[in-house]
Amino acid sequence: MPKTTDAAADLRRATPRTDAVLADPRLVAAVARLGRRLVKDAVTTAQQRCRAGELAPEEVADAAVAALPEAATTLRRVVNATGVVVHTNLGRAPLSAAALEALTLAAGPTDVELDLATGRRGPRGSGALAALAAAVPDAGGVHVVNNGAAALALVTLGLAAGRNVVLARGEMVEIGDGFRIPELLESVGATLREVGTTNRVRLEDYAAAVDDDTAFVLKVHPSNFLVSGFTSSVPVGELSRLPVPVVADIGSGLLAPHPRLPDEPDATTTLRAGAALVTASGDKLLGGPQAGLLLGRADLVQALRRHPFARALRVDKLTLAALEATLTGPTPPVRAALEAEPAELLGRARALAARLADDAVAAGAEESRAAVGGGGAPGVELPSAAVTLPVRFATMLRRGTPAVVGRVEHDRLLLDLRTVPPEQDEELVAAVRAAAAALGG
Ligand SMILES: *Cc1c(COP(=O)(O)O)cnc(C)c1O
Repeated sequence: MPKTTDAAADLRRATPRTDAVLADPRLVAAVARLGRRLVKDAVTTAQQRCRAGELAPEEVADAAVAALPEAATTLRRVVNATGVVVHTNLGRAPLSAAALEALTLAAGPTDVELDLATGRRGPRGSGALAALAAAVPDAGGVHVVNNGAAALALVTLGLAAGRNVVLARGEMVEIGDGFRIPELLESVGATLREVGTTNRVRLEDYAAAVDDDTAFVLKVHPSNFLVSGFTSSVPVGELSRLPVPVVADIGSGLLAPHPRLPDEPDATTTLRAGAALVTASGDKLLGGPQAGLLLGRADLVQALRRHPFARALRVDKLTLAALEATLTGPTPPVRAALEAEPAELLGRARALAARLADDAVAAGAEESRAAVGGGGAPGVELPSAAVTLPVRFATMLRRGTPAVVGRVEHDRLLLDLRTVPPEQDEELVAAVRAAAAALGG
């Protein structure tokens, strides 16, 4: 027999058995905390590395312990160093500490539908709805559903099933992952009346399309692309002169104008301009949990809340708690990232790079350009600063705990600090040091 096969058989024989490894007290404790499946997966992986000759038999338990997930989920914690503030693939808005605390509280039994004063059934989610109403005083009524798409679906189902919705061709948007607004409208029984061309539409186009079968005119914010050049669109203020309600899907969830994003539509301004209803997401620029916000005319919101299908779009108590805390609590991380001062970011980047350079890591610091992301403000660049590293760090950092995801530019890895809260700086340094050690200095 060839020698290599002998060696492989030796490694297989020497690899400790699963139950022997699982008897390690650290892994016994991990099973109690994380459950058997995740711990066994970590052990299996370590055994495979032992069979491949990467680990000594006595290192298997240590390697399994080191590879255990932080919590009983296969989701991994990520430091968002991409510079994309609302990163769709990283779960959009990270929640504030206040929202986390609120949802932990709500995870147990709570008075979500109980009036503790009387002992009778109470209105569901009244705290979150009151907070939303207070944040947008121009909304006569407010309602919260599962996400932005659900808000638009409920509006269309409730007001336009079997009727027409008038929409500009330039606003027939695909949001991402194949989700197309026109298809959503049609899937709940509305007929689309397209007006204008890809680049231009006028009030007369809308006026000519509106008839007795028109349920509403829809205005959709093209939140992930820009049309420039010979273009025109009709603002909500003009559309509201038409004899049907205007529904505005603003997408990003800004409740009031934000000075850093002067072109991004917000709920207050849109309602003041005459929109009957506004729909938006909770986990984009608002910085809260996944949710769909529905704001506007009290009679319409009330009718939609009572619609039989509303129950199927209802949010859970965790969402209600996190949304309320986002609305009433301290600045959520998305807003902090949006408002961070470039000079401060550069100062942090320089300090981090200097510490890493002391450890002989080839790190630098430089100005960079961050972005708002899929959540809105297409084309807006936010001046930022980044720690730069050789590109070979990218994979190693992505595989660490926590994973660090940066962006590769001109064959270097940039860790953009606009999206890294300052309290994660230590973790970032530790992650880069660990990656440098794994890469062999
Ligand atoms: C993001 C977005 C949606 C979809 O919202 P979800 O919360 O992802 O369901 C709809 N319309 C616009 C304009 C958006 O930007």
